[in-house]
Amino acid sequence: MPTNKRRPLISGNWKMHLNHFEAIQTVQKLSYVLRTEDYAAAEVSVHPPFTDLRSVQTVIESDRIPIALGAQHCHWEEKGAFTGEVSPPMLAKLNVTYVITGHSERRQHFGETDEDVNRKVKAILKAGMTPIMCCGETLEEREAGTTEERVAGQVRAGLAGVSAEHVAGLVIAYEPIWAIGTGRTATPAQAEEVHQSIRGQLAKLFGSQGASRVRILYGGSVKADNVDDLMAEADIDGALVGGASLDASSFTRICGFQRRK
Ligand code: PEP
Repeated sequence: MPTNKRRPLISGNWKMHLNHFEAIQTVQKLSYVLRTEDYAAAEVSVHPPFTDLRSVQTVIESDRIPIALGAQHCHWEEKGAFTGEVSPPMLAKLNVTYVITGHSERRQHFGETDEDVNRKVKAILKAGMTPIMCCGETLEEREAGTTEERVAGQVRAGLAGVSAEHVAGLVIAYEPIWAIGTGRTATPAQAEEVHQSIRGQLAKLFGSQGASRVRILYGGSVKADNVDDLMAEADIDGALVGGASLDASSFTRICGFQRRK
């Protein structure tokens, strides 16, 4: 499957970093350094903490910066007694395009289950946004040779009851847990093997036409010096970038992967 069939997406997950002043500065810096050819080659999204969303939205819209606004998380209910949570319609009202769900940090530290992820995927779609659904194995699972099984299980459970039409438009991020924030990246071949198996699983569940349209991002210590090799793989359609997205110049170097081709 040639990569040029799917428009790459480079997403910056800021996690719990950058207050709203810092967020504004970062987006403005990005807008100065990202070039027309970068936006032409890949869609770019940033995923600030909730408190920054309105500020970043205002800068992006008033300065017409072609960066998509993303969120890191949401609840699945539209409203209710869920102290501390934020609903999909609230995010949609801020013109959020992408919502990360099932990130391993949320699964690990906040007990998010596959069933929760499934509810969130459906709620995000219902609100008119696109989920970036994360999956990935632990080091123990990789060493035990159960990576494919683990990831297939997360994909099957996360997308249960979702229509083939919706699945075709969504984004999946394969993020091996042992590579997140560790500086240890999956080799392009390791990542490609899992991406192919995810696409195969999607084809079995939803048909090959839809599966060929799903964008599958790789995440786990993506940096300017490894993005080119990862992006050269046929089934790697972009990157979910954590640490290296906090600094505008390093994120720009990642987004500019195609300039070095
Ligand atoms: C992430 O936050 O999803 C991530 C992959 O982080 P990092 O790039 O820092 O490993």
